[in-house]
Amino acid sequence: MNFATSFPVRIAGLVLLLLVALLAALYGVVEVAIGGAVQNQLQRELGVGARVVEQLLDARGRRLHDAAQALAADFGVQTALASGDRTSLHLQLAGRGAESNAEVLLLGLDGHLLAGTLPGMGEAAVARLAGQLQGQASSDPWLLLPIDGELFLLAAAPAKAPQPIAWVVTGFAVDAAFVSQVRALTDLELTLVAVEQGTPNGWVSSLPSALHGALHRAIMAADFASGSRWLEQGGQRYLGTWRSLASGPDYQVLALLHKSLAQAEAAFAPLTRNFLLIALAALGVALLGALLLARSLARPLRELVRVAERIGQGDYQTPIASVRGAALGPLAQALQGMQAGIAERERQLVHNALHDPLTGLPNRALALERLGSAITAGRPTALLYLGIANLRSLLENLGTAAIDLALQQLARRLQATLRPGDSLARLVSDEMLLLLEHCDNDSAVAAADRLQQLLLKPMHIGRQRISLDCAIGIASFPADGLTPDDLLRRAAIAMQDAARQPERLQVYQQGRDAAHQRQVGLVRDLQHAAERGELLLHYQPKLDLREGRVSAAEALLRWNHPQFGLVAPSEFIPLAERTGSIQSLTAWVIAEVLRQLQEWNGRALHLQVALNICAEDLRSLELAERVAALLARHAVAAGQLLFEITESAMMDNPEQALEVLQRLRACGIRLAVDDFGTGYSSLAQLKRMPVQELKIDQSFIRELSEHGDDAVIVRSTIDMCHSLGLKVVAEGIESPAVLELLRLWQCDSVQGDLLSPPLAAAAFEQWLRQPPALPRLDSS
Ligand code: C2E
Ligand code: MG
Ligand code: MG
Repeated sequence: MNFATSFPVRIAGLVLLLLVALLAALYGVVEVAIGGAVQNQLQRELGVGARVVEQLLDARGRRLHDAAQALAADFGVQTALASGDRTSLHLQLAGRGAESNAEVLLLGLDGHLLAGTLPGMGEAAVARLAGQLQGQASSDPWLLLPIDGELFLLAAAPAKAPQPIAWVVTGFAVDAAFVSQVRALTDLELTLVAVEQGTPNGWVSSLPSALHGALHRAIMAADFASGSRWLEQGGQRYLGTWRSLASGPDYQVLALLHKSLAQAEAAFAPLTRNFLLIALAALGVALLGALLLARSLARPLRELVRVAERIGQGDYQTPIASVRGAALGPLAQALQGMQAGIAERERQLVHNALHDPLTGLPNRALALERLGSAITAGRPTALLYLGIANLRSLLENLGTAAIDLALQQLARRLQATLRPGDSLARLVSDEMLLLLEHCDNDSAVAAADRLQQLLLKPMHIGRQRISLDCAIGIASFPADGLTPDDLLRRAAIAMQDAARQPERLQVYQQGRDAAHQRQVGLVRDLQHAAERGELLLHYQPKLDLREGRVSAAEALLRWNHPQFGLVAPSEFIPLAERTGSIQSLTAWVIAEVLRQLQEWNGRALHLQVALNICAEDLRSLELAERVAALLARHAVAAGQLLFEITESAMMDNPEQALEVLQRLRACGIRLAVDDFGTGYSSLAQLKRMPVQELKIDQSFIRELSEHGDDAVIVRSTIDMCHSLGLKVVAEGIESPAVLELLRLWQCDSVQGDLLSPPLAAAAFEQWLRQPPALPRLDSS
């Protein structure tokens, strides 16, 4: 039985149950009341019965007394008495007794039985009778006396001549007939018992013979202590009471009255019967009502349960048919409201799961799904992966609200360019994807170019002008991949490559995937390289051409990768710069250089060591503080340390870079411009920098000849530096001829493979102690 059926049935059952309980309680109360009334009635009837017995005996006794008086005055009796003739006396008494239907006795005043109609009367009985007559009060006209096991009602009158000469006694046995008469009068059961010397001696009773056993036991137990007692036998119950009717010195006469409980209860039987009939009728009506209620509830409930199941299975669209019944109407309406609410929330959830909340554009998941559909349908599709390179710095400068507005504006701009069937998605915060269907590589490049023209236009957010630096990478299906993941990854690689191109546009190059995998591995492992002991420093000597000796070196970082072997700094340093781990690398290099300097100082090898720092390091204002602390800890003079900074690193954020450099310089650390000639720094800028050295980039040095273009640049740079008070270092010396030229042009120091390639610390130390003879090196 399902809920819709069982619920109304339960309600109906409960109603019935309550009614049954109520009726049972009522019945109980009525029964208790009837029980009490029956008992009261019984008590009252027994009381009345007892008085009836007493009055009946009194009436009979008075009649006997009258008869005794009449007999005492009777002439015949007096004559027979005077004659003293016993026979005639007996005849007289028998005759009179027969007339009045009573026993007659004549008793001498001395207590001798003179004559009588009770032939076998024993002496003890005569003596008891005489004793009672003598002690009898004149107000008591009769007496009850057990005589030889029978109970007699007796009355006496004196026979006078003229003085009393004898007692005339009349009487009769109080027997079953008397008892029956009382029963007929009172509707009560009467038992008369004579108790002689404490022992019951003869009784007569109207109680049914079935109860005689119990009655006998009660009499034998002389259990008359309390007013009323129950008598029970064979399922019959009688309530009884007793009265003492007469008593003498050695006897007592008791009347026991009983009334049947069943008989008394019979009077109330119609009441109980009517009550039960009414209860039955009420139950019937209630049952009918409950069944109707259950029926009227079950149908709409079944409908509502069906609706709830349907909603549970995710069907929120089917409208709920109107539900009859005032009770369930609001519930159905609530369900309808709930269904609509759930449908709306589910739609919202599905939308949120597949869309970017800021721009409302499809998200990565939906983009991949759409790409998947295009692939399944075999539609050539171009992916334009758009990355905003400067979003992070814009966010830092302008705040989230402005950037959110800019992104929304960007989304609108891009959407406006879409053709039907194309889609635009926001993948992550600063990356978007355009899917251009039925688009080959050339059309994709053209589209990307148009987009870039559009994106070059600055946006106006409030009073701010925002220029986004967007790079676009292009990958196409099917040329660059057959799965959405592959295509997306390759478009992202192309975008990263594009970010390093001046035109900010790059089509995916075959094979970049493997290179990218290597890059991903390097980026991942770079963070742990220092702690895993994979980093080391190589030292390349710098020859001071004026002094003709090596008193300085450049520390160059090496990474011994467990999988890729020795990785060149030109590969991992740019990665570290892009992924934010360069500062920890620099920190390691500084610490290692200082440790090494302390070690060499300890061995009386006093060198000046140069190390390379980049743009990211110049963002930290605390750099100088940290270096100063390390210098102190390793007891190394600040003058032994030289920081090389490329021109481009200084140009990134010139104000801040200048501040950091000044602080370093204030500590006593020497500074040099590295790779001079590759950037765009002007002489004016150079003059502002607190540098002491300038390193001419090796691209000018390696192929240097006396009359080439490079010679002009190198010579004028040397002259210019000297006039600015800077020392000049030429790096990348590979031939003795170049070395000779530089010496001629007054270059201060040289560095290059001609002297020595970068060497591990021990090898470098070894080299220093035994430098190889260089051509004309000693001739200075
Ligand atoms: P750099 O600072 O200009 O260092 C000089 C580079 O030129 C070194 O390459 C050195 O081995 C190389 N070199 C020197 N003489 C010659 C020569 O005669 N012929 C040739 N072909 N090459 C020569 P390396 O060690 O591969 O380092 C490349 C660049 O990586 C460095 O250029 C520097 O910019 C960067 N780098 C190296 N170590 C670090 C570091 O610890 N921190 C930072 N931020 N950058 C570093
Ligand atoms: Mg350098
Ligand atoms: Mg250099």
